[in-house]
Amino acid sequence: MSPGLYIVAGPIGNLGDLTARAADTLRRVDLVACEDTRVTAKLLRAAGSRRPMQSYHQHSPAAATEALLDRMSREAVALVSDAGTPLISDPGFELVRAARQRGVAVTTAPGPSAAIAALSISGLPSDRFLFAGFLPPKDHARRQAIAALAQVPATLIFYETGPRLAACLAALAELLPGRTGCVARELTKLHEAVVTAPVAELADRFAGSEPKGEIVLLIGPPPEQAAESDATVDAALLAALATMPVGKAAASVASAFGISRGEAYSRALALKAAG
Ligand code: SAM
Repeated sequence: MSPGLYIVAGPIGNLGDLTARAADTLRRVDLVACEDTRVTAKLLRAAGSRRPMQSYHQHSPAAATEALLDRMSREAVALVSDAGTPLISDPGFELVRAARQRGVAVTTAPGPSAAIAALSISGLPSDRFLFAGFLPPKDHARRQAIAALAQVPATLIFYETGPRLAACLAALAELLPGRTGCVARELTKLHEAVVTAPVAELADRFAGSEPKGEIVLLIGPPPEQAAESDATVDAALLAALATMPVGKAAASVASAFGISRGEAYSRALALKAAG
């Protein structure tokens, strides 16, 4: 195989989703860089590969990254992650950037990613979407992150964990009222379960529960700006007021909704006074 870096996608739960080309690449490269060698050992067995592995993750020392870069200028090195596509909420971005900067050939054996798999069966608009990875675990930071995405005219895609799902849905229902959401669990596995419903309904349904397994959470786009209701503007103002002073919150919502600053400011003051 020609020297270079091969970004190889693996399954997200069902080994049958390993592509023929990904398996072939894993059999032929000189080295497989991976997150957890125990997880990748299973993948290599499924691919019929006996190639050596080397662990590579976010906290790998700079010297280890240098050694990998050096190897891929002379040999074929694959990068895989524990599930799905490397770099998608997984390590690899710095490695790819550095490889490209050094003129190392970078190629892909594409395959599954939970975000795209979930989007494709959610029933939410798929013409425009924004993948936002994991929301912050702490409530205040999570609210800030949601508020910052409130007006993005696209389906939002998040990765989530069972223990945090209920709190996350509660925050989404409060800050993005009226939107449709989707909870997609255990995709491609035995207990795959997908539910699409108004976000408030999802918040009720999962309140107090810690569903098992892996989860993708999606939120449909906001309604067309022309049809924005007062309630939606108020919700956006409340979200903005959680993290900004009145003037700034009003200015940001006014520009997002195309309404006058004066109108947004007086609404913001009224909302603040109402507590
Ligand atoms: N690189 C992976 C990809 O391409 O999808 C994502 C890795 S990220 C560290 C792991 C998260 O992806 C999980 O916490 C979950 O949110 C999501 N995920 C992975 N596999 C999944 C599955 N089978 N069903 C639902 N979500 C999944």
